[in-house]
This record gives sequence, structure tokens and C-alpha cells, in this order.
Amino acid sequence: MGTAVTLDTEFVRLVNKQTVATPEDARRANRSLLLRALHRDGPLSRADLAKLTGLTRATVSSVVRDLMDDAVVEELGLSTAGGVGKPATLVDVAADGRHVLCLDLSEPARFVGALVDLAGKVVVRRTYERKDRTGTRAVTLVRRICRELVADAERPLLGIGVASPGIVDAAGVVVTAAHLRWTSVPLGPDLAAEFGLPVAVVNDADAAALAELTFGEQTAVNLICVRVDEGVGAGLVLDGRLYAGSTHAAGEIGHVVVVPDGARCACGKRGCLETEVSAPLLTGRLEAADGDGNAVLERAGEHLGTALATVLSALDVADVVLSGSGAVTTDTFRAAAARAIAARTMPVLGDRLVVRAGSFGFDDVLVGAAARVLDHELGIR
Ligand SMILES: [Zn+2]
Repeated sequence: MGTAVTLDTEFVRLVNKQTVATPEDARRANRSLLLRALHRDGPLSRADLAKLTGLTRATVSSVVRDLMDDAVVEELGLSTAGGVGKPATLVDVAADGRHVLCLDLSEPARFVGALVDLAGKVVVRRTYERKDRTGTRAVTLVRRICRELVADAERPLLGIGVASPGIVDAAGVVVTAAHLRWTSVPLGPDLAAEFGLPVAVVNDADAAALAELTFGEQTAVNLICVRVDEGVGAGLVLDGRLYAGSTHAAGEIGHVVVVPDGARCACGKRGCLETEVSAPLLTGRLEAADGDGNAVLERAGEHLGTALATVLSALDVADVVLSGSGAVTTDTFRAAAARAIAARTMPVLGDRLVVRAGSFGFDDVLVGAAARVLDHELGIR
């Protein structure tokens, strides 16, 4: 407890702003406040938690007991911090109390399954070659991964979190995922029925954004996370919440045209962002460039920045997180994207602009799938 406790005023403000209509809403909001404080600043005493969240001591004690019953929070030893009065008992998130079974279906060549603890750490990871499986064969592989990880689990499972490419609705149905040839696949309901666990299905870019929001080192309540894999998509966090849009398609920027008369895209148009920035395409172009890939990366980064400039300006968002493997994690790509955005926006945005890598590297989508389950099951946000 040596470090000063910082009040997450922005988050408290947002939670307080939400309508708390029923006792269940209040309970979720209080659990959310406490878990968020512990995730960020734990371990903490109950008195610190009351101070941080503005809740009464009695409410804090009751919610902590509730969370301990669920094996989500645990008591540690006594505080060793100096000061007057008797030392207080510290509580913290019981990272290993429960695990979340997570799947990342976003990579072109493979599916990744994992068990993730409540602090967002990957405990077990299994990689499965996709071997071009699509449609029901891809669903069969997903079910097999779940079965094998359920067998691996050494802690009670809080739920299953699946990060899928494409558009996913609130019921966990993958409305469309072009690369997997999925249309209206009820992945969430089917897995819930088979495994008897709560299941959350989330778009892969949204998952990467949630990882940053829930477990990230920075405290951004407004950010856009751009995920580049087989396609290109973005997850939008506005006012501390993931923004879904009218049809759960917010952030689907991959088919914005950036090169009129450019290459033909799978969607039928020409010159979509995906035809300039997707991971397999960049890999191919970098190989063809034979050692001099800078021009390829700069061109791709500029196209992404061009597509983002209007979005960032409209929303007044200056924090851009890039997610994906290979090219998009290079400094050259990042710098080119930042230059393109700054050149196309007002200084009020450009001066604050940060284009950065995520806090979790390749694990961000898995960790974000876990964050979504925490969100559903514990009311973390
Ligand atoms: Zn397209």
C-alpha cells in the first residue's frame, strides 16, 4: 500500500450518472465500483475502498462479503503501512479464484483457446490450426476447444468468452463473419446449452478495446482500438463504455474506400481499407518488397490514418490503440498512421493524439474476451 491511493473520479462520475433503477442495478454498480478500484489500486482496506468509491463503510463490507462468497475477492494480510490506529485487513481480487475460458477466433490460420485468470493473465493456452475450416466445421472446432479447456480447468469457471471476427449481436449470435463464412450462427446460446456456463460472444476488435479498458495500464475512457488481422475493424470506447452502434456494427471501418479504383475487395467494391491494410495482404507485400518494407508500411499506415481522421474528429477521441500481429505493431506503421491523422485533423486533436500498441500484445483479444465475461457476470462495467 505504499503508493498513494488515486481516486478514479472519472469512473465514479460515470457510474453515478447511470440510472440506478432497482436494487439489482445498485448491487451491480457497487460490485463494479469496488472491483474496478481493486483492479487498479488493490490490495486495499475496506476503509480505502469506501474513500475511493464514495460508498459507505457498511455497503463496502457487505459487497466485499458478497464478492468473497463468489471467490472473486480474497482477504490478504494486515496492512503494513505506518500510521496511527490498528492495521487494517487488505482485500484484493482473487486472481486465481476463478478462471474464464476464452477463445480468439480472429487469426487467419488458427484459433487460440485459453484459461484466463481474473486479473487478465493467461494461465493455459492452446493453439489449433484452422486448416481453412469454415461454416459448421469451424463451429465444431470451437466446441472441441471448449471441451478440451473445460477438461484442463483447475479452478471453477466463471464463464466462456469468445472473440469472433465480424458482427456479433447482444444475444451472442454471430450475425456475419465473412472469413469464417458464418451467417446468423447462434454461437453463444449453443455453447451455453452444451457447457452449462454463461457465455459472452464479442467482436474481436471490441474485445481488444475491452482488454485495454478493463485491464490496461492507462486510464482512457475514450479510445479507439483498431484490430488488423484477416480483416480490419475497430472497437470504440466512449465515456468508459464499449459503443455497439445501432446494429452492433460500430467500428466496422474495413470497407471504407480509401483508394478509388483500387484493388477489388471481397465485398464487391474497389479500394476498401481491407484491400490496403489486412494482415495477409501486408505480409505478402512485405515479402515481395524483399527487405525494403518501409514504403509498404508507410503507405498502409497512411491509409489507416486517413480512414480514421474523420472518425476521431467526429468523436473527439485522441487515443488510438493498434492491435494485431506483424506489420501493424511496427513503429514505421504506427508513425505513418499518426502523421496521416495529424495532417488531416485540427491541432486540438492532433496535439493530444497518441497512436500506441496495446498493453497485452498478442493476448489482447483473449484477455478482452475474459473482460466481457467479467462484465456480464460481475458487473465490472
Ligand atoms: Zn470491401
